[in-house]
Amino acid sequence: MSDLDDTLVERPPLFRSWAEGFLSEQDADPALLDWVVELDRGGHRPREEFLSTLAERVGYEVAVEEFLLDYNRTLAGSYRLVPDARAVLEEARERGWRLAVVTNGLTDVQSLKLSVSGIADLADAVCISEEVGVSKPDPLIFRTAAERADTTLQGAWMLGDNLDADIAGAAGVGARTVWVKRDYDVLDYRSGVEPDFVASTFPEAVRVVLDES
Ligand SMILES: [Mg+2]
Repeated sequence: MSDLDDTLVERPPLFRSWAEGFLSEQDADPALLDWVVELDRGGHRPREEFLSTLAERVGYEVAVEEFLLDYNRTLAGSYRLVPDARAVLEEARERGWRLAVVTNGLTDVQSLKLSVSGIADLADAVCISEEVGVSKPDPLIFRTAAERADTTLQGAWMLGDNLDADIAGAAGVGARTVWVKRDYDVLDYRSGVEPDFVASTFPEAVRVVLDES
């Protein structure tokens, strides 16, 4: 099982290019970029709050709902798999592994990310919190992932960048875990979980699974 955002895809360069494009379209000062990146908080600030603050700062007069649709379409539409992920996933598949992507977010937005990045074609199953009805770390979303991949959680692994949602959640259903630790992570974790392994990239995390199982 794998998380999507900041695990299979690294969001910061995509977000920066979205922000640069937006500032340029609005004829705003390009030097605002660092402020926009700070305001975004790695995507963790509520989107309506982020977008309405940004619109106000650059004098963009738009309904926040419309801005949100456009933002989601553009940013999610730019998603790309991290380098070497496809090759290592294909190798894992040849060795009998199945991949279920387990992601928190809106069904439309996450589905677009999965299709444009090509991840949808590599995955045996997808669980998006909005359509499943619960979010990671709820055990139900991991059980649903195993079911949809036509397997069980016995011997399963979870790869993800969020210690509380991905690692604590998966450890709670007995999966082994690899924490994809991002140096740009802004979250404070509360679960106190210890991952079984730590990796700095997604391919490195898959390599741990292949070596340890
Ligand atoms: Mg993530």
